[in-house]
Amino acid sequence: MGLLDRAGGQLTARAEDAEILVVNTCSFIDSAKQESVNAILEMAQHKVTNGGKARRLIVAGCLVERYRDEIQRNIPEVDAVVGTGELEAILEAAGLSAPATPAAAQSSPFNILVSRAASAVHQHSLPINSTEVAPQLAPTSRAEGDLRERQGRFSRAQWEGATAALPEYLYSDETPRILTTPRSSAYIKIAEGCDHPCSFCIIPQLRGKFRSRRLESIVAEAQRLIAQGVREITLIGQDTTCYGEDLGLRDGLATLLDALAVLPGLKWLRFLYAYPNKVTTRLLETIARHETIAKYLDVPLQHASPSVLKRMKRGGTAEVFLRLIEKARAIVPGIVLRSTFIVGFPGETDADFKELCEFVAAAKIDWLGVFGYSDEEGAAAFALDAALKVPKRTIEARRRRLMKLQQKISAKAKATWVGREVDVLVEGESDETDLLWQGRTALHAPEIDGKVLINDFGPHESLVPGTFYRAEITESHDYDVVARIIE
Ligand code: SF4
Repeated sequence: MGLLDRAGGQLTARAEDAEILVVNTCSFIDSAKQESVNAILEMAQHKVTNGGKARRLIVAGCLVERYRDEIQRNIPEVDAVVGTGELEAILEAAGLSAPATPAAAQSSPFNILVSRAASAVHQHSLPINSTEVAPQLAPTSRAEGDLRERQGRFSRAQWEGATAALPEYLYSDETPRILTTPRSSAYIKIAEGCDHPCSFCIIPQLRGKFRSRRLESIVAEAQRLIAQGVREITLIGQDTTCYGEDLGLRDGLATLLDALAVLPGLKWLRFLYAYPNKVTTRLLETIARHETIAKYLDVPLQHASPSVLKRMKRGGTAEVFLRLIEKARAIVPGIVLRSTFIVGFPGETDADFKELCEFVAAAKIDWLGVFGYSDEEGAAAFALDAALKVPKRTIEARRRRLMKLQQKISAKAKATWVGREVDVLVEGESDETDLLWQGRTALHAPEIDGKVLINDFGPHESLVPGTFYRAEITESHDYDVVARIIE
């Protein structure tokens, strides 16, 4: 969006107003592919409707990495495809290549993060000498990634319609970017790709080998976002805990957090998607040390039965994970944990599922997501013996049972929040009713966790979205809590 905007495109979220339609797709699991295809077909209608303005339809993202030729062959309305490794090709696809004048960028209705080259003002907002943060290190790949490559982990040979070339693209602080999140909150992608061998997952084939952005580029981007009013930064990547290994950094994520946590103006900093065996003591101590780092750890565990974890090619056991959770709670008192699990992985027996339930009951994870296994062609688990595949009905029943168990755990945990005073980032009116407003504490990541419902504005006549208020939690539900503003 930033590239299109800088090249003079005017962005609109209304498809009926657009001359160029861009569908950004996902290809992770079947339901996401279907949703992507439905969106493409829906947008294609705008090209054929009488009186429609649409002239071009561009499909971008992970579906292109998987089905590049097939998309164009089967949906002739599609004019161009842009994979995840060729972002800059969006300009040619859109027929826009002339650099925009700063005035064109100013007219965008979106909240714009302009590139450094385009804005002298932003150059003044970079007080830290980037060379003080970390030395410039030549990127190398991770040994694990090289090994997996030799083992064929990234091969797309079986994927008809995909190019053999893996994406290598990484954006930087120089890349123009448009924020679509609420003004006070932003995601920063710190790395791209993944070297892990998880047998249910095709993300490495879609996104390529793990590669980290330079530390100083991330810091520069964070500074610029803060200068624009962002107060909460969420670091993401397929695996944030490998950050910097390809740059030769030791404890790269902890080093990066140390550099970001002290940036003036930043209120909340968090990272998502930690790989369990990469959560080090140093990382936990870094979370504990900085007031600005949310006491929050998102560590997808996927299962607790050693035999399932082995077939998932992830490793670990319930005991190992319980020890990790105990350690995290000891080093970071009050830390909130988020995790996700997959039920119905091929070969998961009743005993494996029971072991998972016992683990969840013992671990008392604060925010938990449960997904039914989705059999993905191209993932190693797809090739497992058909006799091992768990019937869909059983998968769904297990998913519901685990969520039911978690509901009770969550309700109990949320009840202990009542009476606490917390900082709440107010987001706006509640999604469910206009009688309430909603917000989040530092212990809620954007979009995925429960919420804080606000039923009493305290001394205020109205609240301002994107602003922090002091609040007292007065009630609790299964996942959400209710609060009244006190300051
Ligand atoms: S770590 Fe995550 S992205 Fe990487 S292979 Fe495993 S599930 Fe996929």
